[in-house]
Amino acid sequence: MNHEKLYTPVEEAWHYSSQPITIEKFKTNCCSKIDTADRQPLHQPTMESVKELASELEIDEETARDLQMVCDVSNLQCEYDVQFDYNTFKIYERFPDDGELKTVRLCKDLKTKAEELFFIPTYIEPPDEDFSVDEDQIQDDEVIVCCTVMHPKQKKNKRNLQTLLIGETKLSELRDLIKCQMDRVVFQDMSENPDQLPDEDAQKLFPSSFFFIERTFYNDTRDPAHHDISKTIVEWAKHSDRYNMAGLGLLHSDVMETTCIKDIEIRLGYPYLFCHQGSCEHLILFTDMRLRQDSDPKLKKSYPYVSSDAQRRRKRCSICCIHLAKWVTINDELSFETPGLFCDKCFRYLHYDKDGRKISRFQAYPHIPED
Ligand SMILES: [Zn+2]
Ligand SMILES: [Zn+2]
Repeated sequence: MNHEKLYTPVEEAWHYSSQPITIEKFKTNCCSKIDTADRQPLHQPTMESVKELASELEIDEETARDLQMVCDVSNLQCEYDVQFDYNTFKIYERFPDDGELKTVRLCKDLKTKAEELFFIPTYIEPPDEDFSVDEDQIQDDEVIVCCTVMHPKQKKNKRNLQTLLIGETKLSELRDLIKCQMDRVVFQDMSENPDQLPDEDAQKLFPSSFFFIERTFYNDTRDPAHHDISKTIVEWAKHSDRYNMAGLGLLHSDVMETTCIKDIEIRLGYPYLFCHQGSCEHLILFTDMRLRQDSDPKLKKSYPYVSSDAQRRRKRCSICCIHLAKWVTINDELSFETPGLFCDKCFRYLHYDKDGRKISRFQAYPHIPED
């Protein structure tokens, strides 16, 4: 059987994503028929809805009312739903320490150990919104755009964070939510004075970054030290009529801090790009565009709202294997591996005398936990 490829990668991505859409187009095409003022909660039958149902089914009003009560969505809620506290995610804390069941004791023990290795997992506290202050609230017909940011390619494109955006969210605000290990790398050897905080991390030294959405590079120009790192690619595409190649086209550049989500056209499900630190590339997907719902934050200042964050694994000290690693050493004759991973205690015991003087040759850098 001939498995001939029908699409180029770009055409294939177009095929599986939506047509280009803006928030304005979405409102005009999809929401014009919805009168938000008249929306009623499903579980409150009104006189009109009972009459309508009765005439539709050609039955009397009393039977229609009974029918509505029996078929109400709230009947699907069981006793456990009412009692369950969704905010309690450490349920094992209630397990007894001296219980008879070994499996229960082990579960509690292992869960607690696992917590030491992980940051708090994906559960995000809903924002505590104060409505007493005169803050701007989102409109009833506010359009919410759901966006997923992936880990860089080296991490097999796993999901990093999910966020909700509104039309007024700037692309630079989305950029500030993307926490990547590459931005926090410190290049300065701290072995001579481990108590002195590093002056600059990679993000301060190399602040340039861009989003690439629908053939436009949106550059972060907020830091005076930025460079237009998209320029080379834009010029490359112009040269020798390369833009005529299938799926390429003419490329443009713009500024991310003056561009809002409502200003751009997006394809839902299309893999767009965020690039920083020269070559750290994250896929960005706009997964949904919808009207606001009751569970969404209501204040404008709560957006962009992170609805889910990735679990972050941390490494242990390779000497004591108990505490979390805080230091990485290079060219270290006292370590049995390169790079060497140390917790703060083991690092200081091994490399410094009682007056805090360095006793061997090595370079030390803060350990940056993986994203
Ligand atoms: Zn990155
Ligand atoms: Zn240690």
